[in-house]
Amino acid sequence: MNPSETDARPIGWYVHLPYCTTKCGYCDFYSLPTRPEKIPELVTAIQREADARDPHRPIRTVFIGGGTPTVLPAEALRAVLEPIRRRLGEPDAGAVEFTCEANPSSADELKLDLLRELGVNRLSLGAQSFNPDELRVLERIHDPAHITEAVRLARRAGFDNVNLDLIFAVPGQTRRSWLDSLNRAMDLAPEHIACYALTFEEGTALTKQKRMNLVRPCDEELEAELFESTIDHLTAAGYEHYEISNFARPGRRCRHNLIYWNNEEYLGLGPSAVSYLDGVRTKNIADVFRFTAAWLNGDDPGDRVVVEREFLDPPHRARETAFQMLRLIEGIRFDDFRRATGYDAPALFSEPIERNVRTGLLERRDGSVRLTRSGLLLANRVMQDFL
Ligand code: SF4
Repeated sequence: MNPSETDARPIGWYVHLPYCTTKCGYCDFYSLPTRPEKIPELVTAIQREADARDPHRPIRTVFIGGGTPTVLPAEALRAVLEPIRRRLGEPDAGAVEFTCEANPSSADELKLDLLRELGVNRLSLGAQSFNPDELRVLERIHDPAHITEAVRLARRAGFDNVNLDLIFAVPGQTRRSWLDSLNRAMDLAPEHIACYALTFEEGTALTKQKRMNLVRPCDEELEAELFESTIDHLTAAGYEHYEISNFARPGRRCRHNLIYWNNEEYLGLGPSAVSYLDGVRTKNIADVFRFTAAWLNGDDPGDRVVVEREFLDPPHRARETAFQMLRLIEGIRFDDFRRATGYDAPALFSEPIERNVRTGLLERRDGSVRLTRSGLLLANRVMQDFL
């Protein structure tokens, strides 16, 4: 493209704010205990990174995640979000899905009003469970009453698009306690519910406890049963199951996450954030101190901040696109796939498609191939086959 031309291809923006009040036992995101005295420097660093890395393309979605964005003091949140709000421009602001993650215990009235004032129109709450024992196992700092109160305050502040994240297959969980959590979530009428199975990630406190036999993971059969009952329960209540772990009221699918699942482009800002632009995936350093020091130093720090850089050639991009699209219940839509990658999916993936259709894990449907119900339970295995 001629440098004087404006690139009109829209992208998503992700901002990683890495501070949390405490570390949850299962979490392997880059996050660390809040250091209030360091927050202003981080905010300045992110502002500088946004100015330097802005590809000057229209923004489709913004997602403020972490970490727990709402542990930042109000003035720091304003300093991060206000330039983004200005960058969106008034006429377009309402058309952009602008999400902020929040923890039920830190989503207070002041912060929620502020988020609305700054253009945030979707709130994603890390509810995880409505069972106090399960919240303790997960080392969450909130209790079920905080979730109910946070949703009430969000509605009061004017949020009409709220997501609740929930976790199943928690040690000690039963079918009954999980369905109770699901029902209590649905009682709050969120527009979107994300239900993820607990995974034991390397280096987390929960994984250490598992090795020491202090917690017993949920057995595989129960995990599959919980997943299937989640699908039945939420779809019966009118939620569309549109991605392996995600359910939405009609018209309320998460547009930002759809960018990832369609393998489209995004800019990531902040420590540990990943970007995917012009076929190159980069990852920022997962170290808030080095990230901050590098940007406060003056010039664009370039590779002192970017620690991974991977150029994806067209075949590699096509394989990754298939991998990601399989997460969607609609699966790989051949027309969309061709538009995105230039490849013909049935020809490129004839072997994995054949193999998985034969074993009943994939099914062909008008112009697409998608996971079957049994394929959903073994999704990782099927997806790996396309890489
Ligand atoms: S609040 Fe979220 S990001 Fe922070 S430690 Fe817990 S799970 Fe991780």
